[in-house]
Amino acid sequence: AKPVIAIVGRPNVGKSTIFNRLIGDRLAIVEDKPGITRDRLYGTGEWLNQSFNVIDTGGIEIDGEDEILKSVRVQAELAIEEADVIVFMVDGKVGITPADEEIGQLLFRSHKPVVLAVNKIDNIKMQENIYEFYSLGFGDPIAVSGAHGIGIGDLLDAAAQHF
Ligand code: GDP
Ligand code: MG
Repeated sequence: AKPVIAIVGRPNVGKSTIFNRLIGDRLAIVEDKPGITRDRLYGTGEWLNQSFNVIDTGGIEIDGEDEILKSVRVQAELAIEEADVIVFMVDGKVGITPADEEIGQLLFRSHKPVVLAVNKIDNIKMQENIYEFYSLGFGDPIAVSGAHGIGIGDLLDAAAQHF
């Protein structure tokens, strides 16, 4: 079976943008309901001749602020079950939020391999924003920019260590 990468993180950090970078054109499954978007997306990518599956778990977002923590908990649990390696995505422009910390604790307890990706590092000057994320406890943060396609190879190198 192909190794599975799951992208986990609170809403709006850029999971879907990175997902699209990882899979190129090979997209799957979208399903919408009012108030709930269950567009849990599966795709296939390739890195150094190795095929992998990738899940954008962030499609599960329930409307309403109070539901955010609940929704990230659900997506994290789903990812934990299926993934060989989890890409924990955070927002390098916003910094660490309580929801990030909550997700981090869930992932930590899972004992699955986690690669920490700091998205929205769009230029060299923003590089300094990644350091605060060491405190999440997942080792070296990997700087990426889904918008600009920066750091995707570094992210895949790190993930592929756990294939
Ligand atoms: P998701 O909710 O985690 O799936 O996040 P999305 O992929 O939908 O992105 C959320 C918002 O962040 C959108 O407005 C994106 O255009 C923006 N975004 C995503 N990646 C980047 C990035 O690398 N840099 C910047 N500046 N914005 C980004
Ligand atoms: Mg999304």
